[in-house]
Amino acid sequence: MLGKARSSLSAACDRLNIHPDVFEELKLPRETLYATLLIRMDDGSRRAFKAWRCRYNDRRGPTKGGVRFHANVSRDEVETLAFWMTFKCAVANLPFGGGKGGVCVDTKALSTVELERLSRAYIEAFAPFIGQDRDIMAPDMYTNGIVIAWMSDEYSSISGQASPSAITGKPLAFGGTVGRVDATARGGYYALRQLESVLEIDPNTATVAIQGFGNVGYHCAKLLHADGYRIVAVTDSSGGIYDAEGLDPLAVMQHKHETGSVTGAAGHGSTREITNAELLELDCDILIPAALERQITMDNWERIKAPIILEMANGPISPEADTKLAEKGFKIIPDILANAGGVTVSHLEWVQNRSGFYWDESRVRDQLKSTMETEAQAIWALHNEMNLSLRDAAYVHGLRRIAQSVEARGTQA
Ligand code: GLU
Repeated sequence: MLGKARSSLSAACDRLNIHPDVFEELKLPRETLYATLLIRMDDGSRRAFKAWRCRYNDRRGPTKGGVRFHANVSRDEVETLAFWMTFKCAVANLPFGGGKGGVCVDTKALSTVELERLSRAYIEAFAPFIGQDRDIMAPDMYTNGIVIAWMSDEYSSISGQASPSAITGKPLAFGGTVGRVDATARGGYYALRQLESVLEIDPNTATVAIQGFGNVGYHCAKLLHADGYRIVAVTDSSGGIYDAEGLDPLAVMQHKHETGSVTGAAGHGSTREITNAELLELDCDILIPAALERQITMDNWERIKAPIILEMANGPISPEADTKLAEKGFKIIPDILANAGGVTVSHLEWVQNRSGFYWDESRVRDQLKSTMETEAQAIWALHNEMNLSLRDAAYVHGLRRIAQSVEARGTQA
């Protein structure tokens, strides 16, 4: 996967007159650490879990990125996600490099106590590499606020002092920031609204399908619905629902809380069940993949109909399918811009932890809005000026900033 992700890098390097040192530096991660986490299970047995932490590139500042708990996590996936974080942080103009971590585990098969042991063991294994000025962790898939609280608590115990700024995404009562919970969704929402007129979207008539109804998908649905967009379909890992008359995100979430899934929730008209694959192929105005990687590939790209795709997941479109879609004129707001709101507010949490002065919600939101609007505008301008897809424009935008920090340290020849 990393090899393929790098194709965006070489495309961006080709477009700019970038010193070869920069490509050489970015083509591989600086370091990827592996650890086997040994956990005592509730039944007394011991179980081993594979875990990684990758620091991809730290030229713009300490490496930054979440920790993913998922059964399919691999070294390659962690490195690819860390590569994307490097560009995401640069696109959002944060003083961070990119990193990522992961544990190969199905969290649904663990008890709460087992999950706590695993979270603490992860920090114990990688503690020497973590730090507010070295590598800063955060949530990702299946690492929610409580997992982050255990991790942060463990890190403070090991380091012998309160160290809140080494891990972001903490619960509010544990040194977190206001506005972090919906930050990723809100960032994508601000980017979309900024591009609304150039993309010729009319919020009063636009229809939206969202794949994934976790934290990101749900908050996207809620924010867009409040502005008049019609959410016609949502799915989660067990399937989903479609209603041409629209769905009420709050009611769907209520149903998910009660039953564990969005399936069976009722919309405003005649609601029917759909699969995840069907959702991607719906005839709607905006498609929002907010779940896993590689959902749109060479197998289904020809059936995609939504002319605008807002990538709230990381890497939901394979590079080959992305090229085809871009050639056909689909407007894809790429992940490294669309979902940068999470890490942008993580940065604000880190700033608050370091200064010890805590902001109110409007200050956090204003800062997030300003970042997303500025960067979305800049990427749109590059897309037009250089005749690039929005993804290539985002890579060019991020690469310029990374290259400046590499070149500022001096290059030979
Ligand atoms: N896991 C999130 C992402 O992929 C957030 C990372 C962070 O806050 O550092 O962007």
